[in-house]
Amino acid sequence: MATLRPSQPVSDEARMLSVDEARARILAAFLPLPPTRLPVSRALGRVLAEPVVAPSPVPPFTNAAMDGYALRAADIAAASRERPVWLTVIGELPAGRPATLPPLEPGQAVRIMTGAVLPPGADTVVRFEDTSEVEQPGAGRTGSTIAVYRPTPQGENVRLAGEDVPAGHMVLPAGTVLLPAQLGLLSALGLTWVSVHRAPRVAILATGDEVVDPGWPLLPGQIRNSNNTMVFGLTQLCGGEPTLLGVARDDPDALRWRLRYADAFDVVLTSGGVSVGDYDLVKDVLRQSGRIELWQVQIKPGKPLAFGWIGQTPLIGLPGNPVAAFVAFTQFVRPALLLMQGFRNLDLPVVRARLRSSLENSGRRHFVRGQLRWEDGEYVVEPVPMQGAGVLSSVAQANALIVLPESCRLAPAGSLVDVQVLVLNPLEQPPLPGMTSRVTP
Ligand code: AMP
Ligand code: MG
Repeated sequence: MATLRPSQPVSDEARMLSVDEARARILAAFLPLPPTRLPVSRALGRVLAEPVVAPSPVPPFTNAAMDGYALRAADIAAASRERPVWLTVIGELPAGRPATLPPLEPGQAVRIMTGAVLPPGADTVVRFEDTSEVEQPGAGRTGSTIAVYRPTPQGENVRLAGEDVPAGHMVLPAGTVLLPAQLGLLSALGLTWVSVHRAPRVAILATGDEVVDPGWPLLPGQIRNSNNTMVFGLTQLCGGEPTLLGVARDDPDALRWRLRYADAFDVVLTSGGVSVGDYDLVKDVLRQSGRIELWQVQIKPGKPLAFGWIGQTPLIGLPGNPVAAFVAFTQFVRPALLLMQGFRNLDLPVVRARLRSSLENSGRRHFVRGQLRWEDGEYVVEPVPMQGAGVLSSVAQANALIVLPESCRLAPAGSLVDVQVLVLNPLEQPPLPGMTSRVTP
């Protein structure tokens, strides 16, 4: 009697994983990288590993917010156009000098510039516009007399010491993403170094006898290596520090040789060689130097995916197919890179959008390259033509991935679908509905 023999060995490896399971198993292998101290000027885009407490107040001293005269508000309470109050100027204070003046007495004022220390006894600054100087040599200078035409509330045009940040205040909690405003704030506090999660070091390796780096002549049967530069760019957008390891021939020794410095990296990303073919090397090499965790995912494009360890370094084996590699990067590698950097939100932004043409699906989670736009008060998404898994130009035209769930067999035109916006850089804000670059004149 003929027995049915499975065409592939049935093992944990062969079991299909859902996208969510695969992602969870990959993320479980990563932790935020240990804190490192960086100069503030080098810390853009990093995530604080420790909270920042203000060692001193900002501003450090009470100062003038306007050019004018520092005085006592009580002195000018009755001032008006018709009956100005006359004050004697007893000194001048430019920014950047200590206020070495005797305390202001009634009837006195100090000529002061924006940012200068408020002199002792003064509580208010009156703008030049609300005063006038008596026509005489040295008008407005020390020893001259000025007229004030308007009362000013006490404290007007004065910035109090610590009004921005009081000393001892926890200004930036751990987990804060350092954008330019945060860097400026750290500098205002006098801090020159910050404790952050460093950028992950990412090794990138293509595999395949047919794969040739651009710049070399293409022999019959060869194709150009698109994955390395693409994954390099994706890694940079996600805050990683990429290093290219070239292309490994389809030969275990070549692969091992290319990966000999794997332990210098936080993660190794390979592409190709993970499908059920004759040259499925990544998994053989992994099997020898570590463990394979998974390699078949219910995802389209890109069912094959390897995950394992080279020594202590995690390795994610992306599919060879460039479109599949791109999609797998967005779903599995990006969250891992963000997690290592201490980002809390690992996911691409998702919007509900009206589908312009119908789409079919076959039981896997299908990521369809699409053009998303805001039209007549709603998001609409148009699948880009040529959805073939090998058509990299379809990714180049897309600004979004339409996500068809496993359970969805058909998404008719006009239905609402989830769409991941391809804002890969975690520092970038997704565009808001109705956004343009025009300013109403
Ligand atoms: P593989 O997973 O190695 O069988 O590769 C699947 C498909 O992707 C094949 O058509 C390969 O030629 C192609 N491919 C693999 N690596 C690359 C690469 N680095 N650049 C462009 N295409 C690739
Ligand atoms: Mg290959």
